[in-house]
Amino acid sequence: MTAPSDVPTEGPIVVLGAGYAGLTLAQEIVRRGRGKVAVTLVDRSPGHVLRTQLYQIGEIADAAGDVRRWLVPLARVFERTSVTFRRGDVRSIDLERRTVHLDSGELPYRGLAICLGNVAAYYHVPGAPENTQSVYRLSAAQRAAAALRASAERSDALPGEQRPRVLVIGGGSTGTELAAEIATTDWSRLVGRAARPPDVFLLTGALTFLAGFPPAVIERARATLRRIGVTIVHGLNVVRVDPGRVALEDGTVFVCDVAIWCAGLEAPPLIRELPVPHGKGGRIAPEPTLEVPGHPGVVAVGDAIEFHDPMTGVLAPSTAQAALSEARIAARNLLARLSGQPLEPYHYRERGILVALGARGGAGTVGPIALWGSPARFLKGVVERRYSRSVERGEPSRLL
Ligand SMILES: Cc1cc2nc3c(=O)[nH]c(=O)nc-3n(C[C@H](O)[C@H](O)[C@H](O)COP(=O)(O)OP(=O)(O)OC[C@H]3O[C@@H](n4cnc5c(N)ncnc54)[C@H](O)[C@@H]3O)c2cc1C
Repeated sequence: MTAPSDVPTEGPIVVLGAGYAGLTLAQEIVRRGRGKVAVTLVDRSPGHVLRTQLYQIGEIADAAGDVRRWLVPLARVFERTSVTFRRGDVRSIDLERRTVHLDSGELPYRGLAICLGNVAAYYHVPGAPENTQSVYRLSAAQRAAAALRASAERSDALPGEQRPRVLVIGGGSTGTELAAEIATTDWSRLVGRAARPPDVFLLTGALTFLAGFPPAVIERARATLRRIGVTIVHGLNVVRVDPGRVALEDGTVFVCDVAIWCAGLEAPPLIRELPVPHGKGGRIAPEPTLEVPGHPGVVAVGDAIEFHDPMTGVLAPSTAQAALSEARIAARNLLARLSGQPLEPYHYRERGILVALGARGGAGTVGPIALWGSPARFLKGVVERRYSRSVERGEPSRLL
């Protein structure tokens, strides 16, 4: 275990992951260090993925492989800054030797920020990884969009009045946004000929529909989904997935053309394997300062952590909004640690969350105010555009 006095004085600060957490953390180090602190930012992707916008599946299908709208090139974001972007795959982290192992070699560090996000959790459901789509990564969202597009293209060959059946598994905000988007996309325009609109089903399992949202918002969201033709199937877990067939715990077999898994997330294997305290799904359980216990000068931020606010006991959610605010404090604390200054605890404050329900619908909260319908959708669009613009300009950004 590394003692505080062991924190080296040489070498770069290495930031692993250039998602919402890593990008903000690197920008904050540049700002606080007045551009003089060397940072190496590592990601397997050449760009910052606008992951909160990956529910825009119709537009991704329409973009036909041109994903520039959802991917901001990292070399451009950090042009003329003290951040060096290194594209690579992180294989493992040696916390004792203060070295990261990449596919292209070793990277020693003075300070480290672990911001590697999360991956889909399939809960050992047989066939789920192979036979469902997902939207947790840009490449996965592209595959899901292609599968939906292909089912629209085949739809006029279906017998009688039959329509393609799409099952979205998981009734949290990601599944809900996605189901609404699929139901309101004009697939005929997209495939360039008459296509039958899909029947969209949203399956909620152990977690109820939009769990955690205020009841009024849930009711409005439910009514909006009904109006746009999404059927909610409540309270059933998936026990097996075969191609085109999803078996539920009550014995029902749901036949569908496309199944999309939005049922949960967990830490990636390399984080689960770290010899540090872990929370649910293998997420790192950091100190209140966001340092990794026993490893001064190493912080963990974003979806990769499970953080309970020590003052309120509230669990910070796996959202970009939380990742951004954690990253600002983690950057501050990392620099403080490296210069022998006192660290400060992070406190999570919920600012609100907005869910898009198709092109014109939405629901959510902003502070204590509940919003729905077109005002909620309008605000969601403003938040998304503002975030994308500030990332493109290389400026620090906020979500909500
Ligand atoms: C469809 C969808 C909609 C969402 N909507 C919202 C919303 O409206 N509001 C909100 O606040 N949150 C939303 N979220 C959640 C939000 O996207 C996450 O909480 C956020 O992305 C977490 O940021 P992060 O930096 O921890 O992880 P990520 O943004 O996932 O970044 C992790 C980075 O690490 C990189 N990486 C991972 N493993 C490796 C490796 N081994 N080697 C190299 N690089 C690696 C990845 O390429 C990625 O760039 C949404 C999520 C989804 C999927």
